[in-house]
Amino acid sequence: MIKPECIKKLKEVVDIVEVVSEYIPNIKRVGKNYFVLCPFHSEKTPSFSISPHHNFVHCFGCKYTADAIKFVQDIEHINYYEAVEKLAKKYNVQIEYVDEEQQKILKEKYDEAQLLTELLTNVAEVYHEILLNSEDAAEARRYLISRGVKQETVVKFKLGYAPDGDFISKNYKSIPKLAKYDLITLYKAGIINFSSKHSGIEKYDYPYDYFKGRIIFPVFNLVGKVVGFGSRIIPSKKVFYSDGNEPPVYINSPETPVFHKGNVLYGLFQSKEFIAKEKSVCVVEGYMDVLIMFQEGIKTVVAPLGTAFSEQQAKILKRFCEKIYLLFDPDEAGVEATLSAAKSIFSVGMYPQVVQIEQKDPDEYILQYGIDQLKNLITNSVSVVKHVVQYYSKNKPQFSVTEKISLLNKFIDMLNVVSNPVIKSELIKEISTELKIDEGVIRSEQRKYNKVYAKSVDVQNVISNKPYTSEEELLWICIHYPEVINEIDDEIFSHNNIYLEIFKTLKTCFLSSKDINEVVSQLQPPAKDIVIRLVFDTDRKIKITPSSLEKKIKELFTEIYKIKIKKRYLELKPIVEEMLQEKVVYNPQIINEFKQIVETLKLARR
Ligand SMILES: [Zn+2]
Repeated sequence: MIKPECIKKLKEVVDIVEVVSEYIPNIKRVGKNYFVLCPFHSEKTPSFSISPHHNFVHCFGCKYTADAIKFVQDIEHINYYEAVEKLAKKYNVQIEYVDEEQQKILKEKYDEAQLLTELLTNVAEVYHEILLNSEDAAEARRYLISRGVKQETVVKFKLGYAPDGDFISKNYKSIPKLAKYDLITLYKAGIINFSSKHSGIEKYDYPYDYFKGRIIFPVFNLVGKVVGFGSRIIPSKKVFYSDGNEPPVYINSPETPVFHKGNVLYGLFQSKEFIAKEKSVCVVEGYMDVLIMFQEGIKTVVAPLGTAFSEQQAKILKRFCEKIYLLFDPDEAGVEATLSAAKSIFSVGMYPQVVQIEQKDPDEYILQYGIDQLKNLITNSVSVVKHVVQYYSKNKPQFSVTEKISLLNKFIDMLNVVSNPVIKSELIKEISTELKIDEGVIRSEQRKYNKVYAKSVDVQNVISNKPYTSEEELLWICIHYPEVINEIDDEIFSHNNIYLEIFKTLKTCFLSSKDINEVVSQLQPPAKDIVIRLVFDTDRKIKITPSSLEKKIKELFTEIYKIKIKKRYLELKPIVEEMLQEKVVYNPQIINEFKQIVETLKLARR
């Protein structure tokens, strides 16, 4: 367990706007709050709201609520301790654990990741040097030139060459950048592997290089550290192995503590600023497509690493842009890859378009027809449904019933992951038009999918357009000027259970120095919603300044007192009438209270 005082310190120094802006671009300031598109649900207008003063975020669309620590946990998919460590490092807060053992384990894990990315970044530089200068890499250089890759691109993407033989495992001790590491670390980073050999009766492990005779494509994380490699064999090395198998053309680093194929995108580090600026991205299949498109002027391009485009990758892109174009190969595998990628993209609430390229991969297309021609194709991109139907209907006058059913099943599979109702309805319309099947039939075919979805909301409207009750105004003061809370007695809210609960929770939390996150987590709607609205309403129409605070509180007390009395009057009136008609037992205390209330109300009216 982390010592509570460390968490408290961290929460004091953390700047939640800064933390959020590291993950989501285009944060807008409105008054004292900040707004941005929600990373956890799909929306067109920002309802993800950040209150810098309260270390608090809330999405008015999907109701997500968090402080900086929870936000980092959720957006990075890491646990509480990892999130705390990460923020503590950023804000220079020393984290101490009650439990020393746990601290040790976590530190080791963190240090290992640091060590591996540092090593991989060094290895990338070694491979890069070789590609640029070594005699061994002559063929690799020729190959890249033949594929249209220019020197500037080689440098920008730090392409490298892994020589044949076991270059790293044999020489690493004499390579200055690698000399301080050991074989085990090289193995953990996925640079070398071990193989067992028998000599006589003894069996021993010998190390060999993971990449041999290959062009190396380093994969960077978002901060520019290398986490793994993609690679392509150069043509002359494409000889049979001793076991008679041909080596694979492409291989990636194995999964390591820092490399998970489904969580990274090739080219994103180099293209992210352009993607955020243009709010769109092209997803292509290969490293070469990324390099040539970027080089020739479409700088918003990424590729998955030889695996299907995952939902996690779609989520990453969603942080940077609104539009995704799919540019996959024009063959059946490409169409299936398009469908699979589209599913990942639909499931995060985005709507991809397909760029239709005839006969060629994007890189070859550009080199033959020029970048402007490809830009044209992007402008004329079509929907996924249209693309798939066009592909399968090639050279056919019309679909047979069996073919229609097979295609419909593909689409229904896709529909099942869509939770956004607008996207879903649009897709059903398209399927209906393209396959000439009634919309009702498609809807009934599609299994009911009970995923909850959040709708877009007009945040400003929710926050500030509804008038406040006097009780809410007083609660607003308690939230934004917590120093007054001790002066106010529960009694003032006793006529309304919701306000009373809110006030009591605020009081207990603030007095034990817990923040608004704790308050919100203890409350249920509608009390919770009231508090959230009050937190974000920092630009109140009633202008309160610290000097007018006391006067305002007094006014509100008078107002609320009137409300309480009126409420009591309405409660007592029928009882008193019944007493006077002798329908119930006469109670002088109640009659007295009623008389007093009537007098007070008369006074107030004057
Ligand atoms: Zn949301």
